Amino acid sequence: MKKLVLAIALAAALDGAIAADQGLLEASQAQQAPLLATLKELVLIESGSSDAAGLARMADYTERRLKELGAVVERKDGIVTARFQGKGKKKLMLIAHMDTVYQPGILATQPYREDGNRVYGPGIADDKSGIALILHTLEMVHKRGWRDYAQLTVIFNPDEEVGSRLSGDWIATQAAEHDFVFSCEPHGAKLDGILMSASGIATATMTVQGRASHAGVAPQTGRNSLIELSHQLLQTKDLEVPGAQLNWTRANAGLVTNQIPASATAMGDVRLSATDGIQRLQQALNEKIATPLVPETVTKVEIAAGRPPYLATDAGRAWAAKAQAIYGEIGRKLALYPGTGGGTDAGYASRSGKAVVLESFGLGGDGVHGRDEYITVDTVVPRLYLLSRMMQEAGASK
Ligand SMILES: [Zn+2]
Repeated sequence: MKKLVLAIALAAALDGAIAADQGLLEASQAQQAPLLATLKELVLIESGSSDAAGLARMADYTERRLKELGAVVERKDGIVTARFQGKGKKKLMLIAHMDTVYQPGILATQPYREDGNRVYGPGIADDKSGIALILHTLEMVHKRGWRDYAQLTVIFNPDEEVGSRLSGDWIATQAAEHDFVFSCEPHGAKLDGILMSASGIATATMTVQGRASHAGVAPQTGRNSLIELSHQLLQTKDLEVPGAQLNWTRANAGLVTNQIPASATAMGDVRLSATDGIQRLQQALNEKIATPLVPETVTKVEIAAGRPPYLATDAGRAWAAKAQAIYGEIGRKLALYPGTGGGTDAGYASRSGKAVVLESFGLGGDGVHGRDEYITVDTVVPRLYLLSRMMQEAGASK
């Protein structure tokens, strides 16, 4: 047996990879069945973003589980925040969300079911897999006596699928006080990887102030805000701003047909791929709107920030490379997804730029936000191993 272990270690060394932590790997294997049992319990609690009763049951469940693991738990605005005190120097944070995109009663038509390597259920991947992974990673590492962190914080929020309106600032301010944030959204079943970027979201509002007059008797004394709005939309529709994309999507003007409209408004969807995207877009818009078509009208544009973009920093990329090396220890390849159009709370976690933030430590799966959402069972052990080794490395880093 010893000879075999030595041979494996030697082979790994020759391969350029570090040998796996066998004890941790075995502990991960032992956690697979308990994790799947937890995941089933989580799926059976329906928790759509607008289902207050379901989300309260989810919060009760996760609070109880976190307390059993020894955490001090705080609940505010439906957000569950758990804190563990350790003996090390670094502050680590893990996040996952409790809400799903599904409506109450969904289990009747999309029940929990197991089928070989796949386990199906609404929200099972996105993001109940992240919650189960965090609970069982903590159980495993603490059982093994690992406490190499000053503080370990877990946040489970109830509103990720609706933009984290209540929890976003909380995640951002908490993350700013930590050294590392590992976000546990799922990754796609086709490619086992972690995510390097995700767009941020904002809303642009353009308002035009003109002057009302009788449309039939004295149109020339009015200042037509609808015509001016149309002009401004056309001249801002193809702005090329690095890190920001704007599409006008809604508009309204006027109250009645026999009056030159005094005011008009348009709203647009903004996607951000750079942290200064809003400022750059605002500047580009201001330059364009300075040239009116209808004299004596006043046009303004305001951009309201939603979820910030997530962009792995240089430090984040170095830690992603470490994650790849960790996967190499157990003979697996970890892909680095360049980006996604969907948002993530890793954006809020990165807002201050203080913590190293990485995304998609949850299980593999697919069909999220669709009809046949599932996780793949064979990602459970690798993902338990990956997250716990990342926490060990982060805790021990300088
Ligand atoms: Zn999610």
